[in-house]
Amino acid sequence: MTIETLGVVGAGTMGNGIAQAAAVAGLKVVLIDVTDAALVKGVNAMTASLERLVAKGKLEAATRDAALALIETSTDYQRLAVADFVVEAATENLDLKVRILQQIESVVRPDAIIASNTSSISITALGANLADPSRFVGMHFFNPVPLMPLVEIISGLQTRAATVELVRELTVRLDKSPISVKNSPGFVVNRILVPMINEAFFLLYEGAATAEEIDAGMRLGASHPIGPLALADLIGLDVLLSVTDVFLRDFGDSKYRACPLLRELVAAGRLGRKSGWGVYRYE
Ligand code: NAD
Repeated sequence: MTIETLGVVGAGTMGNGIAQAAAVAGLKVVLIDVTDAALVKGVNAMTASLERLVAKGKLEAATRDAALALIETSTDYQRLAVADFVVEAATENLDLKVRILQQIESVVRPDAIIASNTSSISITALGANLADPSRFVGMHFFNPVPLMPLVEIISGLQTRAATVELVRELTVRLDKSPISVKNSPGFVVNRILVPMINEAFFLLYEGAATAEEIDAGMRLGASHPIGPLALADLIGLDVLLSVTDVFLRDFGDSKYRACPLLRELVAAGRLGRKSGWGVYRYE
């Protein structure tokens, strides 16, 4: 099967980024959300992002126009009937995702691939709700999608090899680099990244070093482009806490215990950049 039309469900941060990357690669895109307002917001975000790429000389104006012309938006799931491949990128909630995936399965062709961009929900567990879980797979993009080269491809227990092959093919076509991983909490990147950030909070909590020194240590000593605490502010402290709590629950291993300082900052509403104050203050 060659992938001509990509369905994307959810026009938020990730969904509009995936739609944009696909359209720039020349694929037709059907972008679905629940309200027209969400779709307009998604299209505006894509238009602004494409504009920035053109202004920086990274994209031709003609490619931008061609990409925007390839994107159809709708609140009607029936429009997904033409899709060869659908990526679900809606709000991170198990019951909602199960409902959406079943809705997708009810309208697409029997040979269409269905993927989820979930960051934390088990691909095996999600797939178990589909009539044919062998064509279901995890396709985990990174934010911002147009700029981040990685896609983690996650095989659930039921995912068949041919499905994984098609996801790899699509990933490369979107000009991204795939890595494959068996279904497991946090997949590869967050499994390493989130405990590392949690450890940085422990150092701060113990008064071992200042936030600036901890961040400088990892930038200058480990070649990280950004320190772990500055990165925490960027990701959102609430998001990090909830992922850490999922690791603790799913692995049952106390090494994933969240740092009390991280919990305390979240309780105080210091969530990072989005709230103007996390580890650091933002204007
Ligand atoms: P978001 O809140 O920006 O967007 C979610 C969108 O889903 C909204 O536009 C919402 O209206 C829509 N939606 C809700 N219910 C729907 C339904 N029934 N049908 C269609 N659309 C529906 O969220 P996001 O940050 O884009 O995250 C989306 C997914 O991507 C989540 O599973 C998240 O875990 C995952 N993810 C997020 C990031 C990130 O950094 N934001 C990174 C990787 C993966």
